[in-house]
Amino acid sequence: MGYTGRCACGAVTLQITAKPIATRQCWCRQCQSIAAGGPTNNAMFPADAVHIDGTLGAATWTAASGNTLTFHFCPACGTQVYAQSSARPHIKTTRLGVIDQPHDLAPQAVIWTDEAPAWAVFDPALERFDRQPPAPPPPPASQG
Ligand SMILES: [Zn+2]
Ligand SMILES: [Zn+2]
Repeated sequence: MGYTGRCACGAVTLQITAKPIATRQCWCRQCQSIAAGGPTNNAMFPADAVHIDGTLGAATWTAASGNTLTFHFCPACGTQVYAQSSARPHIKTTRLGVIDQPHDLAPQAVIWTDEAPAWAVFDPALERFDRQPPAPPPPPASQG
């Protein structure tokens, strides 16, 4: 059970040894900035289940939610690898784009639709949140 992944240039590789706690598509303004105008698509994994080889760059911003978010990326190619919230240090919010395909991951919810552009299209089958959704549950004590 798990996933492998890499950035666009291959300098950063991932081994993920758990299923995600949640998967989400985020349309907040900061995600649009880093995702070329679209949403980010993310899988929230227990932090200790995400093993990364290679050197990451990092930038820390205050998110729309008010939490401090640190964005980790490959400094060679710019690929976004994962984000970590000050409110949830036990979770690495990993970008679906770095996870090797084929995989079984897809967004279960669409969040921050209030900040999406007028042309955005939301999957009607997915749970939708205008802004920040409730926090995901903490990981089971048996993990890790
Ligand atoms: Zn890279
Ligand atoms: Zn976002």
